[in-house]
Amino acid sequence: MKKHHRSTLALALVTLLSLNCGSAGGGGDFNLISLEEEWQLGQQLAREIAGQVRINNDPALNAYVRNMGQRIVATTPMANLPWNFYVVDDPAINAFAVPGGHVYVHTGLIANADNAAELAGVMAHEISHVLARHSTEQISRQYGLSILASVVLGQNPNDLARIAAQIVGTGALARFSREAEREADELGIRAMYEAGYNPVGMATMFEELMEHSRRSPGRVERFFSTHPLTEERIRDSRNRASQLTGRSVITDEPEFQNIKRRVT
Ligand SMILES: [Zn+2]
Repeated sequence: MKKHHRSTLALALVTLLSLNCGSAGGGGDFNLISLEEEWQLGQQLAREIAGQVRINNDPALNAYVRNMGQRIVATTPMANLPWNFYVVDDPAINAFAVPGGHVYVHTGLIANADNAAELAGVMAHEISHVLARHSTEQISRQYGLSILASVVLGQNPNDLARIAAQIVGTGALARFSREAEREADELGIRAMYEAGYNPVGMATMFEELMEHSRRSPGRVERFFSTHPLTEERIRDSRNRASQLTGRSVITDEPEFQNIKRRVT
């Protein structure tokens, strides 16, 4: 009975695959689940993750991060879907995103960003991994369709916990490819710019991350292990930023420095 149910779902998912090609956000080359299922999966993963990390509850800090995230998301084709933004109490300089619009920012990242535009740069990059559905591709590849299908249906708590633990432990399921990173940078820089943040912030944040990796590799290890950062990516970000002109943008705002003080 269960088996029959699963194969029916698998068939439904394969059918959805063809409908999803070229959908909002683009990029999804290997997605076996619909956006709706992805958002269901995200809710389940977020519940698991809440039990595995220390979620920060400072209202001012959370309001600032949520507002910045929503401003960036509002410029994208997935603006009408529900997104959630979390601050994680962790001094490691990291951020990660879970399929279905859940974006996590470490206090260590906020403490090490110089200004609002730098935080926006990393958030826009993580949001863009969700837009391009890179993590869903990773889960599809790594776990396969039948396991993914049963996880989405809530029939597979063990694998759900395993996927969540892997995301928490490494910041993603696997190292994103160079193409995925380029796509997240491209989508992200445009989104942050349209949201009103200085796009140069993405490059200067990357430069700081690079600098940290030289001085204290341990603190940026997780970010680097999943988001390979190269001099070429930094150069490309600078070039893209120089082409985005005409809109009035901010590099910093007092509210950012206020919340930064709360985590340093
Ligand atoms: Zn990335």
